[in-house]
Amino acid sequence: MNFNRIIIFAICTVMILSVFSSCTNNKNSSPASHSDSLSNDQYKDTAITIDTIPLVDPQPADKEEAEEKAEEKAETEEKDTEGSKEEEETEENEMDSEKDKKNPEITEKDGITYVNGILIANKSYSLPKTYSPGIDTTANNALQQMFSAASNAGISLYVVSGFRSYDTQYNTYYGYVSRSGQADADRYSARPGHSEHQTGLAFDLNSLEQTFGNTKEGKWLKANAHKYGFIIRYPEGKESVTGYMYEPWHVRYLGTDIATDVFESGLCLEEYLGITSVYNN
Ligand SMILES: [Zn+2]
Repeated sequence: MNFNRIIIFAICTVMILSVFSSCTNNKNSSPASHSDSLSNDQYKDTAITIDTIPLVDPQPADKEEAEEKAEEKAETEEKDTEGSKEEEETEENEMDSEKDKKNPEITEKDGITYVNGILIANKSYSLPKTYSPGIDTTANNALQQMFSAASNAGISLYVVSGFRSYDTQYNTYYGYVSRSGQADADRYSARPGHSEHQTGLAFDLNSLEQTFGNTKEGKWLKANAHKYGFIIRYPEGKESVTGYMYEPWHVRYLGTDIATDVFESGLCLEEYLGITSVYNN
């Protein structure tokens, strides 16, 4: 008899402890899982009923949370994908513009070469012997405007050399060759038919010395020429690309839009257009 009582007492004790334990767990877990969706009053009601109902399966809430997280993750991934698509597109655009630069539109009319519509005379592209347009009127007007602006800033600019015919360039170039050899002459003087001066769009200003670049006139020219449509055609450090030594005095007319674009790019004209300047013999 005593043994049976003990067994029954033990079973009852276990059951009571089990129920007590359930309630405690529930109370502990409830606030965390419900506080977000229930007000304090609602929570109190729920707490009261919890004692009388079986343990709430925590899975649904977890499932919801898990599903929400999965959705969020999917959305984030979608956004990431969109982001990388945009990046790809941007890269493609950049590659396109790189491609454009590497594949410039080169056309020839009456023996004169135009690259993306810009008349080019350099070591790679020559002008016909008969091409003799004189000084370009638009370029000259722009030059005079630049001179007035310079003058207003206390800067004196003047032309040393403008248009040069094929024959004049012939004499000039071979004069240098006989004096210092062809290899040397090729660094600073164009062969006849290859001079930018034959286009009527180029001018040498003030002084044919590289030190001109350090004078206030040279500095003003470098900083302002593009505003009047000119570029310093043979910039410092670009000899391997332009084919000519640094000439801070030599300006080329391109019009303000292109000149400004070239100026802002920091490139020389050959780099800007994606062309070479190399003699083929
Ligand atoms: Zn020049």
